Amino acid sequence: MVEQNSFLYYDGAKREATSDRYFDNINPATGKLTHTIRSASADDVEAAVRSAASGFQVWSAMSPTERGRILRKAAEILRSRNEEIAKIEVEDTGKPLSEAISVDIHSGADALEYYGGIAASLHGEHYDLGGSFAYTRREPLGICAGIGAWNYPVQIACWKSAPALACGNAMIFKPAELTPRSAVLLAEVFTEAGLPDGVFNVVQGEAEVGQMLTRHPKIRKVSLTGEVGTGKKVMADAAATLKHVTLELGGKSPLIIFDDADLDEAVNGAMLANFYTQGEICSNGTRVYVAESVKASFLEKLVAKTKQLKLGDPIEMDTQVGALISEGHLKKVLNYIEQGKKEAKLIIGGDRRTDVEGCYGGYFVTPAIFEANEESASIVQEEIFGPVMTVLTFKEEKEVVQRANDTIYGLAAGVFTRDLARAHRVVHQLEAGMCWINNYNITPVEIPFGPYKQSGMGKENGLATLNAYSQLKTIYVEMDKIDSPY
Ligand code: NDP
Repeated sequence: MVEQNSFLYYDGAKREATSDRYFDNINPATGKLTHTIRSASADDVEAAVRSAASGFQVWSAMSPTERGRILRKAAEILRSRNEEIAKIEVEDTGKPLSEAISVDIHSGADALEYYGGIAASLHGEHYDLGGSFAYTRREPLGICAGIGAWNYPVQIACWKSAPALACGNAMIFKPAELTPRSAVLLAEVFTEAGLPDGVFNVVQGEAEVGQMLTRHPKIRKVSLTGEVGTGKKVMADAAATLKHVTLELGGKSPLIIFDDADLDEAVNGAMLANFYTQGEICSNGTRVYVAESVKASFLEKLVAKTKQLKLGDPIEMDTQVGALISEGHLKKVLNYIEQGKKEAKLIIGGDRRTDVEGCYGGYFVTPAIFEANEESASIVQEEIFGPVMTVLTFKEEKEVVQRANDTIYGLAAGVFTRDLARAHRVVHQLEAGMCWINNYNITPVEIPFGPYKQSGMGKENGLATLNAYSQLKTIYVEMDKIDSPY
C-alpha cells in the first residue's frame, strides 16, 4: 500500500493535496488497499481554478488548428500507452482487461482525435442586413468542470475534455473517488502532447470536492456523469451561479425482441446489454421484453450462452466477467438479487463468488437472469448497475411501447426485429435519447449520445456536443449613418 498525496494535477504538473481527509483506493478484484489518497482542500481547488484561468488565457488565444493538433497528438500518446493505462483501469474498476484494452482507452483516444480533427472547423455565420451586417463567433465558455463516474474513468475524462478543449475551454476534472488514477495519467499525456499548463487539471476527493466545483463562481459549466440523485444536486448547486450543465445519469433501459428477430443475434445483443463490464453500464438494456411466442427458445439460447461466460481474475485476458466496483456496491447488487427472488423467478446466476484464484477477497457475482411478470417489481423498475437481466414477455407492439416508456428514465433503448419498418416505427415512439436497432451499446464518437427524461440532459460525442461547450456571440456592424430619432 502506498500513501499517495500527489494525485492532483494543476499548473502542468502533479501537486500535493493539503486537506486532512484521505480516501482508500481498493482493487475490487482482491479487496486489497492499493493507495490511500489525500482529498483536495478548498485551497487546492482554488489553486486549480487559478491554474485553469491562466491556462484558459493561453489556450483560447491559440489558433483552433494548433489546438486540434495537440488534441490529436494526445490521442496518439494515449493509444501508445494503451496497455499500461488499461491495467491501471482494471486495478481501479475490476473490469476485464480484455475490455479495457480494446474499448476504454481507444474510445477516449477516438474522442480526442475526432474533436482534434474538427477544432479548426468551428465557425460562426455572416448575416447580410443591407446597409449593415452581423456575424456570429463561436466562443468558449471559460473554465468547465468535469465530474466522472467510476465505470469508464478514462473514457469519461476524454469524452468531457475533448470537446471542451476543442472549443477553447479549460477543464478541471474530478474523477470518482473509487477510480482516481487514470485522470492523472491523462493529464500527463496532455502535457506531453504540448497542452499549455493549466488547460486540463485534476482534483481528487468525494462529493464535497465535487460541490466545490459546482458552486464555484468562476466555473462556467459542469458536466456530470453519475446517478440521477447526484444530477439533481449538481443542477441545484449549479443554479446559484447559473452554470451550463450537462447531465449523463442513470437508466433502466428497455430492449424489445420481436418474434421475427434473429434470436442468436438478439441473445448476443441482450448479453452485451447486460453483462459487459459486469453490468455496470448506464445505458444497459436491463428490461428485456421478449415476444411471448419466442420466449422459450430465446431463454434456452440465452441461458446456454450465459453459462459459458468466464468469470475470473480481471487481469487475465480470457476473463469475461470481472469484479464489481466495491464492497458497498456488491452488497447493493446482492440485495437486489435477494429481493428479485421474492418478486420474480431466478433462472440462473446471482451468486457471490469467493473462490476466484488469487482474488479470494474480490467482489464477484455471477451474471443473473430473472423472468418477471410484475412490471412493478423493484428489479424491473430500479437501476441495479450490476449483472442482473430481467426478462419480461409481451403480446402486442402497442402494449410493449407503452410498458417500455413507463419509467422515469430515458437514456437508451433497443429493438431486435427483421421488419425494419416496425423497427423505425417503434424507436420513434420510445422515450429514449439513444436507440439501437439490431445491436446494443454501440457508441462511436461520431454519433451524439445522451439522455431523455430523468436520465439527464445534453449530449456527449458528435457535433451536437460542441454547442454544449461553446457560446455564440452575435456582432452587429453598422456601415451607414445611424437611423436615429434623436
Ligand atoms: P455518483 O452519482 O455517485 O457519482 C458521480 C460523481 O459525482 C462522482 O465523482 C462523485 O464523487 C460525484 N458527486 C457525488 N455527489 C456529488 C455532489 N453532491 N456534487 C458534486 N459531485 C458529486 O455515480 P457513480 O460514480 O456511482 O456512477 C454510477 C452512476 O453513473 C449510475 O447511476 C450510472 O447509470 C451513471 N452513469 C451514467 C452514464 C451516462 O452516460 N449517462 C455513464 C456512466 C455512468 P464520489 O465518487 O467521490 O462520491
